[in-house]
Amino acid sequence: MSKIKVHLIWDFDAAIGQVNATYPYRFSFQPIRDELKNVQYILDKADEFNFRFSFAVTGFSAESTVYPFEIKDIIKDIYSKGHEIASHSWRHEWMPIMMPQQIIKSIQRSKFILEDCIGVPGVVVGFVPPHNRPMTWVQKGAYSLGDRGLYPFFKGGNIDYLVSVLKDSGYSWGRFVYTKPVERVFKQDVYTSLKRGVESVRGFSIVPLHYNGFDAKAIKVIEQGVQLKKDVFICGHPSGLSRNGEEAIRHFDTFVEFLSAKSDLIDVVPVNSRYS
Ligand SMILES: [Zn+2]
Repeated sequence: MSKIKVHLIWDFDAAIGQVNATYPYRFSFQPIRDELKNVQYILDKADEFNFRFSFAVTGFSAESTVYPFEIKDIIKDIYSKGHEIASHSWRHEWMPIMMPQQIIKSIQRSKFILEDCIGVPGVVVGFVPPHNRPMTWVQKGAYSLGDRGLYPFFKGGNIDYLVSVLKDSGYSWGRFVYTKPVERVFKQDVYTSLKRGVESVRGFSIVPLHYNGFDAKAIKVIEQGVQLKKDVFICGHPSGLSRNGEEAIRHFDTFVEFLSAKSDLIDVVPVNSRYS
């Protein structure tokens, strides 16, 4: 019986990402500490169950600064344990409102500095845009006003533009979220969301996001994947383990136990394993 692949992609914002992603004036150091502690917890679980994940990390976190902004040792540690390091932009920017030159810089610098940290040129091939933006894909008829920077006024407000930059910059895959008009009409459920697999655009792979979190719904998505023989892409945030939501640590514990019990049907592997 052929196995399905489950890809768990971690959006690892790190200190710079948390500063840029949270509402201003509500700063607290504790979530930054918690996130790093949770990364260690995730790595230990991965070792225990022999799972390999993908970690999309902000590039700034690999620049030479000071702890906890600089976490080179943690990035190296993640990589040395067999996980994939992908880019989560340079400093967790809102891509759609950026000028093309800024987008190119963020995409290229993050790849360069993460690879420099790991010491393996060409090893960073995945990209996860912060906030999953843009969600507009003009060529597919998918528009999202929530992008704020709207195409054609903002080139970055179109997934297709990011694909071009990523491809030209040596990336192989990117995770993008978008909704086609027909999908708005017919309500999304687990089944319809799994219908979208990896899409190839000019030789670049767009990977889907089937579910964010580890609760009972996540387990249902995996069960559907096994049933339909579809690979599943799950997203989580190390910081989310400390919050009371679908990514809470108690859900994560149950989720990895579940995956482990299904190991004859499921391989938990990084996204880049699809290309090697
Ligand atoms: Zn993020």
